[in-house]
Amino acid sequence: MRIIRATNVLTGRPGEVIKDGEILIDGPAIVSVGPRGSAGEADDVLELDGHTVLPGLVDAHVHLGFDDKVDPLTRRSSESDQHLLLRMAENARKLVSAGVTTARDLGARNFLDLELRDAIEEGLTVGPHLVAATRPITITGGHCWYMGGEADDEPAIRRVARENLRAGADCLKVMASGGQMTPSAPPSWAQQYDTEQLRVVVEEAATRGKGVAAHAHAHAAIRSSVEAGVTTIEHCTFFTSSGHRYDPKLADLVAASGTYVCPTVHGAFERIRKVHGQEMLDAWLTCISAMREAGVRQIAGTDAGFAVGEVDNPTDGYVGGLEVFAMAGYGNAEIVELATVLAADACGLGEVTGSLDPGKRADLIAVAGDPLERIADLRNLALVLVSGRSVGQTDVDTVTASTG
Ligand SMILES: [Zn+2]
Repeated sequence: MRIIRATNVLTGRPGEVIKDGEILIDGPAIVSVGPRGSAGEADDVLELDGHTVLPGLVDAHVHLGFDDKVDPLTRRSSESDQHLLLRMAENARKLVSAGVTTARDLGARNFLDLELRDAIEEGLTVGPHLVAATRPITITGGHCWYMGGEADDEPAIRRVARENLRAGADCLKVMASGGQMTPSAPPSWAQQYDTEQLRVVVEEAATRGKGVAAHAHAHAAIRSSVEAGVTTIEHCTFFTSSGHRYDPKLADLVAASGTYVCPTVHGAFERIRKVHGQEMLDAWLTCISAMREAGVRQIAGTDAGFAVGEVDNPTDGYVGGLEVFAMAGYGNAEIVELATVLAADACGLGEVTGSLDPGKRADLIAVAGDPLERIADLRNLALVLVSGRSVGQTDVDTVTASTG
């Protein structure tokens, strides 16, 4: 048994703070959360004066199998699976070094994400708990086809979905619209699958109690994703051939459905703004703001691994993504909620992690300062526990590039 005491304990629910609080942990699980003295006695007591303890952060959208600099198409033929798996392990280590204790990997080739997920759970390597989608379902030559999930009609969609689930996928990813990064794919503003086809994916996942993440930039793809009943919409950029065009009626539909939206904002945002200019990013920020006003449930997820317009988006830039939510008008308490409780729920883990509650996994972080005052304090990590296991990585030297 171990007690962790801190000046502030945030449960994860909006604004809920226990001043001078403590958490009792037994192995991988939380036993109790309350004010000083509530946990009784324990041999191991950690006093964190001036610190805040909160649930481990959740990144609902990563690609550990990508490197920021190398074109995935070229590398597909040049990098072995063995080498790639080591790269993924390093990306997972960096992710946990930013305080991320759960991440959803939304696309990897050859089921390597499952190998990594299991190796982390066995303690062979350091990283967050992973929720793995394996091969994204996409049309022939469509967005990210090179990950092996091509399917054009209903029977083929069912087959790829079932194969992913048979291999051990925790959720399914479907490319409802086109996207950047794949030369042969339709553009972002074009739909790849209609509502009926998306429904097939949702149906297959639901029979195993799993959720579906739909990549959707285009208006029609966003609408179809809601109609089909997916769990999360990724990007949701309202993209057209002439840029972001926010549609309030469509946003109302998303809000009313309760579908989570992961707008995939990340630590590279400011650098992209410098390279590619203000206008497009401001338009996107306005969409995120407007979705907040409309009551859309947005969650944190960085799309880490994908370079955006040749700007790196490494896996440890997570807090930079939260700062973009602040730029879009979110308050710090809301940001903590969308980075913990809401993101965990969207990943299908609401019962297991995402808040500090008895019986949940001891996935938590401690930071110097108070993130409710300054979201940047989330960078001052003093402790990272993944299922009670200490995985602090702050002093590890690495040869791969990082962002703060
Ligand atoms: Zn992605």
